[in-house]
Amino acid sequence: MIGSHVWVEDPDDAWLDGEVIEINGEEIKVKCTAKTVVAKTSNSYPKDPEFPECGVDDMTKLAYLHEPGVLQNLKCRYDANEIYTYTGGILIAINPFKRLPHLYDIQVMQKYKGAALGELSPHPFAVADSAYRQMINEGISQAILVSGESGAGKTESTKMLMRYLAYMGGRVSNAEERSVEQKVLESNPVLEAFGNAKTVRNNNSSRFGKFVEIQFDQRGRISGAAIRTYLLERSRVCQVSDPERNYHCFYMLCSARKEDVEKYKLGNPRTFHYLNQSNCIELDALNDSEEYIATRRAMDVVGISEEEQDAIFRVVAAILHLGNVEFSKGQETDASEPKNDKSRFHLKTAAELFMCDEKSLEESLCKRVFVTRDETITKALDPNAAALSRDALAKIVYSKLFDWLVEKINVAIGQDKESKFLIGVLDIYGFESFKTNSFEQFCINLTNEKLQQHFNQHVFKMEQEEYEREAIDWSYIEFVDNQDILDLIEKKPGGIIALLDEACMFPRSTHETFAQKLYQTFKDHKRFSKPKLSRTDFTIYHYAGDVTYQTELFLDKNKDYVVPEHQALLAASKCSFVSSLFPPLPEESSKSSKFSSIGSGFKLQLQSLLETLSSTEPHYVRCVKPNNALKPAIFENNNVLQQLRCGGVMEAIRISCAGFPSRKLFHEFIDRFVILAPEVRNKSGKKDDIAACKKILEKSNLTGYQIGKTKVFLRAGQMAELDGQRGEI
Ligand code: ATP
Ligand code: MG
Repeated sequence: MIGSHVWVEDPDDAWLDGEVIEINGEEIKVKCTAKTVVAKTSNSYPKDPEFPECGVDDMTKLAYLHEPGVLQNLKCRYDANEIYTYTGGILIAINPFKRLPHLYDIQVMQKYKGAALGELSPHPFAVADSAYRQMINEGISQAILVSGESGAGKTESTKMLMRYLAYMGGRVSNAEERSVEQKVLESNPVLEAFGNAKTVRNNNSSRFGKFVEIQFDQRGRISGAAIRTYLLERSRVCQVSDPERNYHCFYMLCSARKEDVEKYKLGNPRTFHYLNQSNCIELDALNDSEEYIATRRAMDVVGISEEEQDAIFRVVAAILHLGNVEFSKGQETDASEPKNDKSRFHLKTAAELFMCDEKSLEESLCKRVFVTRDETITKALDPNAAALSRDALAKIVYSKLFDWLVEKINVAIGQDKESKFLIGVLDIYGFESFKTNSFEQFCINLTNEKLQQHFNQHVFKMEQEEYEREAIDWSYIEFVDNQDILDLIEKKPGGIIALLDEACMFPRSTHETFAQKLYQTFKDHKRFSKPKLSRTDFTIYHYAGDVTYQTELFLDKNKDYVVPEHQALLAASKCSFVSSLFPPLPEESSKSSKFSSIGSGFKLQLQSLLETLSSTEPHYVRCVKPNNALKPAIFENNNVLQQLRCGGVMEAIRISCAGFPSRKLFHEFIDRFVILAPEVRNKSGKKDDIAACKKILEKSNLTGYQIGKTKVFLRAGQMAELDGQRGEI
């Protein structure tokens, strides 16, 4: 209708609003602030004439639930520093990229204690409080799932949630013994020192996934906790691209107190190959020497002894020295040896710090022993292969060190085996789609497919429950399941992971043969395709979008394999900490050829995570990164929309739109539309409310709506229709 206000699609800003000035059949001309746009009627949405100036704190309160309305609401709230908004039971958190201390102090926690969800402004504390109370009142375990892309604020939100749970479930601690919740909270800085790094997407990016399970006793007090971690990014230890950094701990140690730096023969981080591949060494907001002290203090709190701390940092230093060992051609053909005195010095230092024999270290890097049926052959490695062997050693040591830390923290915190209920908090990488996508993205996106399925099922269930509560018919809502993608990836036998494992076990496979096998097997799969111009890439149509994966490193990265020479070397270390990282392998698996698969191991981890989650009542926090500049006050529409899609928020809204997206309490409905049937005005009382609503709806000639016990449920678009009729009067 000419003169009405609508939203139309725009390539730059996603949606623009304006006034309809012309209608030509299927097309409308819309006058927006900066330009005039011609759009298809079917691609435009009505704009709510009564949109509240500061938005609404819950999307389900929007009169018009559609994409532009959702976006407008988030943006106007964000501009007012209201970074949290609900969509039904989901909390959307938009990263402010600036400190908002008043939002999180202890008084705020006190305020949220016991307040009903929705009574106060949306907040992670409200989500944590509601989880805590449901656990106490109904005796059901809870889970809070925090997701979003890198830099969206998952880890910060997770810390807030954990702080609140510690506040609710904590007990007065005596000064001598650290309480469980103190240990849980202090595990964060320890894990961040060893598992976080600066990336282009986030200055403090977690390079691992984490599920913290907080256990409570009968009286609702924290009695134990367990931390599970997922897939630490190993390659970063020896390969850093500009302008990123390696794991924080390396830089911390280089700027540690003088005696430590001397003890470990460290110095300027720019002198170490594992750090100087990137030009980024210092970070503005991070003081490495203060962080070193803070990390040590946190290690004290979680129960890592002084002696263990020394051993840990000794290993960190050893890795840096190891990285500086370069190789050149040796005397024999194809052999290699440390390149020069500098390399010899670092080799010697690394051996000292690992407390292993220098000669054995050199041999383990430069030689490989092959055992055949009748003999043992020692083969020399060329300089290239020796450098790869060196990097493999650095990576395996670091990943074992990280696992040791997690295990140690778990032991120190202690598990409460008696605990009947728990609250789990999941902080795990969101959907990733880059220019090149490798095995890591493949695993990460599998995680997100699994969580998405869980999410859809839950949102669908909640929606049904609301309809049942209101006693209305909901039989015609359906939702899209992503089971077919999950089958494609993880079905056994025949899924992509199974085929990858097969390829890894077959010595002559290459990434080319693996890709061929995929093309053959899935040529008719509607979630899979082979990109036209490539012979080794493959594309999966994920729920959040298409991702093309490069198979080049899939086989290598899937092999969880410790070189036997490295294993033997470090198992023989005189340092009990180092040797404990490499316990002797069971007879069977040391017979080399058996390989263990990272992909399948991860799949099992995910299965177990989902089993845990399915026995809990889930709560969702969806973090959104409003811009890629990591700066405050910039809200990029397209960017935000894409994330809302990936996080399932749009799907949740779609599910809701498929049913009755607009719902209004009887009296609200009457207030808004009484003008359509003024004669109902003089009546009052609950029964008559229903009659009044019915009357208004009858006069409007709408069909398909439903009247529940307390609310009117309208189909998509009907609210706009009613507003239109109101406008005509
Ligand atoms: P990754 O997947 O890379 O680990 P992430 O989602 O965990 O990313 P965070 O590390 O939590 O992201 O957040 C990135 C940065 O954004 C933080 O270091 C902080 O500077 C800022 N930030 C996030 N949330 C908030 C908040 N609620 N208040 C202030 N700043 C925040
Ligand atoms: Mg993080």
